Amino acid sequence: MACLQARSRQCKRVLSRTNSTPAGLVLRHNAGMSTARTTLLQSLDDLLQPERFKDYGPNGLQVEGKPQIARLVSGVTASRALIEAAIAQNADAILVHHGLFWRGQDGRITGWMKERLRLLLAHDINLLAYHLPLDAHPELGNNARLGQLLGWTCDAHFGEQALGCVATVDYDNAQSLAQHIEQVLGRSATLVQPDARPVRRVAWCSGGAQSYFEAAIAAGADAFVTGEISEPQTHLAREMGVAFIAAGHHATERYGVAAVAAQMAAQHGIEHLFIDIDNPA
Ligand SMILES: [Zn+2]
Repeated sequence: MACLQARSRQCKRVLSRTNSTPAGLVLRHNAGMSTARTTLLQSLDDLLQPERFKDYGPNGLQVEGKPQIARLVSGVTASRALIEAAIAQNADAILVHHGLFWRGQDGRITGWMKERLRLLLAHDINLLAYHLPLDAHPELGNNARLGQLLGWTCDAHFGEQALGCVATVDYDNAQSLAQHIEQVLGRSATLVQPDARPVRRVAWCSGGAQSYFEAAIAAGADAFVTGEISEPQTHLAREMGVAFIAAGHHATERYGVAAVAAQMAAQHGIEHLFIDIDNPA
């Protein structure tokens, strides 16, 4: 366990979260080693195979920084808070699930975008982002890690690009399922429970996958777990008799990026620090 500046408030938060979380938030410390950016990117591409996905933004290197990487920070979203925390930790690269660039943006570098880019460029920090490939990786991805944390074994897939997972489980009802999730993720969940029947098959997909609900129902789920809920899902849950649980977009997507970055740190002998920028959404 390493904390690069043990007395900083940021670091204490990281450490306390790491200690209280069963898995996923892993810190590695390999002082003095570094790897080429191109080598790290090749390893990430080999592991996550972005070419297999049709995604909403570019996977891989989004902002080019220094050519050599000794210290990698991981986090869910390339927010200004994460970039500032990475700067405080002297990071050479940041690996995120939610990068800066998405399809449909108008491309202007103003306001919040200017500020995030200014910080990255001023400190010569590489921004590496993997979106759907990081959801989908069968061992280190968001859905795999969430399933592991909750004790679920994915035995079938559903939804867009087969990202969603289904597992056989044994809960008395959707409420006890929701309580288990709340306990493991350390936050409250939104539950729409149409009836009190047992949950034998659970379907899940991290983040903002509420639109996969019908595919989850078609896959035979008694309950569907994702990060967010929108208005129509309440009615679908009630009318189809399938429970819907929204456990937080951020909370369900903390684990994949930390696991992938830890794997990269181990493989290349570099330092890694996962920084959790709290987000109630
Ligand atoms: Zn997401």
